[in-house]
Amino acid sequence: MKPVSNTPGWIVAALQERRQLDLMRHTVTLNSPQIPHTHIQQHAYTAFCSNDYLGLANHPILIKAMSDTAAQYGVGGGSSHLVCGHLSPHQVLEEALADWLGYERVMLFSAGYMANLGVISALADRHRPVVQDKLNHASLIDGARLAQAPLRRYLHNDVQSAEKLLVKSSDTGLLVTDGVFSMDGDVAPLADLSSLAARHDWLFMVDDAHGLGCLGEDGRGCLSLEGLDARRLPILVGTFGKAFGTAGAFVATSHDIADYLTQFARPYVYTTSMSPAMAGATLASLRLIQSNEGQERRERLARHIAYFRQRVQALPVELMASNTAIQPIVVGDSASALRMSAELKALGVWCTAIRPPTVPAGRARLRITLSAAHSEADLVLLCDSLEQVFTATFLNAQ
Ligand SMILES: *Cc1c(COP(=O)(O)O)cnc(C)c1O
Repeated sequence: MKPVSNTPGWIVAALQERRQLDLMRHTVTLNSPQIPHTHIQQHAYTAFCSNDYLGLANHPILIKAMSDTAAQYGVGGGSSHLVCGHLSPHQVLEEALADWLGYERVMLFSAGYMANLGVISALADRHRPVVQDKLNHASLIDGARLAQAPLRRYLHNDVQSAEKLLVKSSDTGLLVTDGVFSMDGDVAPLADLSSLAARHDWLFMVDDAHGLGCLGEDGRGCLSLEGLDARRLPILVGTFGKAFGTAGAFVATSHDIADYLTQFARPYVYTTSMSPAMAGATLASLRLIQSNEGQERRERLARHIAYFRQRVQALPVELMASNTAIQPIVVGDSASALRMSAELKALGVWCTAIRPPTVPAGRARLRITLSAAHSEADLVLLCDSLEQVFTATFLNAQ
């Protein structure tokens, strides 16, 4: 069919405004799997912007597990978990995750965005407020909005600022933070936040989308890094779209909270279960993360991070306080971030400019992400290219 359209004026105006502010976004099509050496329209690039931190998204073991599970259980869940869409690959994955992390129960969701909407909207309401870090992921903010709960935000990683908000509130509620901050790469002070929540009788929840698989013993993420357990961290959300290399998400919690979410988390109740084949691939990914190969991949990633920081430290740029795979370089305004991204692209390095509203105004950045799938030569190319682009910019500015 030949496409036709009839666009209202206010939509045209909104798009025009985004363009003028250098904030227009669009998709780019890769002619390859999610691997560092990718192709866009016949041009070869080395990519430093995916969240596939361990290089598992295109791993042969995951591909085989997905196809084997599909052969046995099909590709569609067919219904929500509560009607008839909870198949044994889902159950096996839930139990394996619970066992790995030391929680009574795990519930699967189709996406991290939905897990956060589901958990927060079920646990918060007008009389159970949500207190969050200022830099928390959009899905955590939106969960509080969906709950129509009072939402207060404390200064980034500032436990005292969080405490002020808890003390001020007449009702107790949920204290929520990212484990690793998605646009900054730093880790939240989880042990202190957990104690704070316990002192004031608030529920503590962490979204560890970027820590699980990469950090801590056995890749157990921030939980392990900060020495917490299920008692001190009663609600842990993890996602599979990052280090796990698949798609979907989970919440790890107690029997009672899981039973409660099963009744009241609408984004759990009213949606089709994730593909059973995806659950099969994710279980294979978990086993890999727990294995020697997983450990070797974490170590290779750590070497890349150390090399990158040592090289970029010498450049005239602002490096964030991050020891994770997320190594952003803050550029400032959106136009400069787009220009830097284009200059890197001309050198064969692909790194998308991240602009407001994903990051605060004036804090546009190159969100460089490193992966165990990168080679040492890839890191050299990245650092040489950054050196070329940023040294030239610095000299021009003098
Ligand atoms: C990516 C991300 C999510 C969303 O997860 P999806 O599975 O991609 O929907 C949630 N929280 C954080 C911190 C994230 O970085």
